[in-house]
Amino acid sequence: MMRGMGPSVSLTRRGEDRVRTGHPWIYRSDVAEAQAAPGDLVRVTGGRGRSVGHALFSDRSEITLRMVTLGTEPPGAAFITDRIAAALRYRESLHIDATAYRLVHGEADRLPSLIVDRYGDYLVMQALSQGIDRRVPDITAALVELIRPRGILARNDPRVRQLEGLQQTVEALYGEVPERIDVREGTVHYTVDPWHGQKTGLFLDQRENREAALRYARGRLLDAFSYNGGFALALAPKCDPVLAVDISEDAVARIRENAARNGAAQVEARAMNVFDELRELERTGARFDTIVLDPPAFAKNKASVKKALSGYKEINLRALKLLEPGGFLVTCSCSYNVTEPMFLDIVAEAAADAHAEVSLVEKRSQGRDHPILINVPETYYLKCLILRKLA
Ligand code: SAH
Repeated sequence: MMRGMGPSVSLTRRGEDRVRTGHPWIYRSDVAEAQAAPGDLVRVTGGRGRSVGHALFSDRSEITLRMVTLGTEPPGAAFITDRIAAALRYRESLHIDATAYRLVHGEADRLPSLIVDRYGDYLVMQALSQGIDRRVPDITAALVELIRPRGILARNDPRVRQLEGLQQTVEALYGEVPERIDVREGTVHYTVDPWHGQKTGLFLDQRENREAALRYARGRLLDAFSYNGGFALALAPKCDPVLAVDISEDAVARIRENAARNGAAQVEARAMNVFDELRELERTGARFDTIVLDPPAFAKNKASVKKALSGYKEINLRALKLLEPGGFLVTCSCSYNVTEPMFLDIVAEAAADAHAEVSLVEKRSQGRDHPILINVPETYYLKCLILRKLA
């Protein structure tokens, strides 16, 4: 293609180096010149006007370019449909024993900033950049053709859309999407609210960790930061009694509903701040054989890492004190800014302070339907350690 024929963006030397590392995000500071409109598919050029790839352009975000191909060839006209189809084939190959899981995980499916989750016969999607937002009609058509869902909901309410100058909206794009959808994960049935639930309705990234935890769970279970009862219900077949704690009254109402639906009469749900509840449990001499800690991201950015670490340390320290020797602690962090080595360190400090001898049974991350790109550290956000307290 000749220069100046279509929208194009030229990079600085540093920008070109960045493309070479395999990272698909190019920041504004690494862009030399842009001739493009919001959401355009642009040719990306380096030194002497050489093509280095094609990308989706944003005129608002600090992330100006999201690479979709490398080299000189532009992506084919049907690249969105092709990539969605590839993402679906991968999910089929996983033989997921659930009716709710992630179909498209953005960058890791070569569809930067597009999320598509399946909830039974319905799909919930998020378009998190100008380039993807402009292509929502094409994406919707591709999903209808490939999956034939009963409805598609756009959960375009995440705040990151503001950074792209996009409106925050929630709307049905296709068919009708009910307020409640019944889904199954293994043997557990959940009712999901795709319109108002957190994320797109459930924490699908923890599904495999719930499965893994079931291998060890036993006895008295504490599920802290339970949301709709994900871990509590997954582990209930092997645990009695079960205490699920979440600060949100809504979440607790859902835990009770889901527990009743699954015949898990031993589940008690409390609307409490976990920090307070752990202290109270310690004061009353409570003990558990299995504990799950799955807090929200304590470190939303680099500046809050130090405070986040002290939060992680506190809950892990208290949980290890409440845990019986021989018991299991499933402890998670979904803060990208707290890396796995940092998380391991802080849990080790907590163990030392709790005078607990602890072994690492499994080191896990988000489920395989939320793939990690090895050249894109941002895609590795969820850490899940399964620990055993020896004494
Ligand atoms: N374990 C869940 C997901 C947890 S998400 C699952 O497997 O589905 C984190 C949850 O922590 C949210 O539901 C949020 O309401 C809750 N939360 C946040 N801060 C809290 C606090 N201080 N005490 C108790 N719950 C809290």
